[in-house]
Amino acid sequence: MDMLNDPALTAFREEIRAFLTAHLPGDIRRAAARATSVFIDPDVSLPWQRILHAQGWAAPDWPAEFGGPGWSEIERYIFAAECAQAGAPNLAPMGLKMVAPVIMHYGSSEQRAHYLPRILSGEDYWCQGFSEPGAGSDLAALQLRAVPDSDDYVLNGSKIWTTHAHFANRMFALVRTSNEGKPQAGISFLLLDMATPGISVEPIRTLAGDHEFNQVFFDDVRVPQANRLGDENGGWSVAKHLLTFERGGKYAPTLIGRLERLRARDDIEPVLRAQLDREAVTLKALQALELKAMRGVGGSAALYASALKVLGTETAQRIDTLACEVAGHAAWADADGQTPADLAVAVPRYLNDRAATIYAGSNEIQRDLIARMMLG
Ligand SMILES: Cc1cc2nc3c(=O)[nH]c(=O)nc-3n(C[C@H](O)[C@H](O)[C@H](O)COP(=O)(O)OP(=O)(O)OC[C@H]3O[C@@H](n4cnc5c(N)ncnc54)[C@H](O)[C@@H]3O)c2cc1C
Repeated sequence: MDMLNDPALTAFREEIRAFLTAHLPGDIRRAAARATSVFIDPDVSLPWQRILHAQGWAAPDWPAEFGGPGWSEIERYIFAAECAQAGAPNLAPMGLKMVAPVIMHYGSSEQRAHYLPRILSGEDYWCQGFSEPGAGSDLAALQLRAVPDSDDYVLNGSKIWTTHAHFANRMFALVRTSNEGKPQAGISFLLLDMATPGISVEPIRTLAGDHEFNQVFFDDVRVPQANRLGDENGGWSVAKHLLTFERGGKYAPTLIGRLERLRARDDIEPVLRAQLDREAVTLKALQALELKAMRGVGGSAALYASALKVLGTETAQRIDTLACEVAGHAAWADADGQTPADLAVAVPRYLNDRAATIYAGSNEIQRDLIARMMLG
């Protein structure tokens, strides 16, 4: 933990703080404070991404050769912590954090040159087409057919729970290109243009009332075979690589910000305060684990990704519950818009966050993966 307070990093931290003070617009900060989901709408996240991009900081985790700032792991962590502290919105992860690393790893030089700059600038906004009505935890059961026809594949079927498909102009999708052998061995990974004829997007409302995800239908959709990432029938390896980036990451910086704003209130009765204090200790432990994961100490990336997903999302849900208790009736009485943001959105955030232990692979499945990786 002392790594975060190393005096050698003071100048770096000051530079980030000064930038955030000068460049994070108040309207973006206010919209982020009232967001009820980790998936922030692009009308809030993209303007902030463009500001960061102009500074060269839109993708702290990318290697410098592709446009990352070339920071060390600890500098990247400090950047995330300072952004959370300043109230900056999350950037959409589907492009920057999910598909970009697999394009870097599996993409041809043409695919890298075409897609990566457009992800960085926000020109392309991505959604993830993995789950289907009959394929969630058992993802390898997916059935969306991609049949070769001259230089194209022709796609028929549907994807479901597709976050922000109604905003996206691109989708990365797993499709079935063969029924031979094991189900995993007949899957390919495609990069699609959402404007292709035959794609339609139907909204699904969440428990919290948000329109965040969708069902996407494919009716004779032609996708050039050149848009495949990796080998035909080799998509399962690409997907597994991607899921490590989807699941891992930094939960503690945002959660510490939320918890500390609750703990700073002076109207909290002692039993509730003790519960908040206990979560503060949990978050210190989570932060220590995230720092170890970033440096790859003591475990594989996949093991850390699953462990952090379970710990981060379950801690978030406990903090959601405590936020509702702190808010009390204030959670329902924001008619004048004057209630502090964390209290005003406590209930919708609680409802929205029920999904956190399901998406990116449910926590039951993560526990199974952890057991297999640790016990063999
Ligand atoms: C808010 C949200 C956003 C999402 N966004 C996307 C997206 O953008 N793109 C995308 O492709 N998908 C997305 N998903 C889908 C998500 O990946 C799936 O919901 C998830 O993988 C679980 O699949 P399922 O919903 O079919 O549940 P099921 O697989 O039917 O599981 C139902 C329950 O059974 C349990 N279960 C299933 N199998 C086992 C087992 N072997 N052992 C123990 N327990 C088991 C599960 O843990 C769960 O509790 C999103 C989901 C949510 C909630």
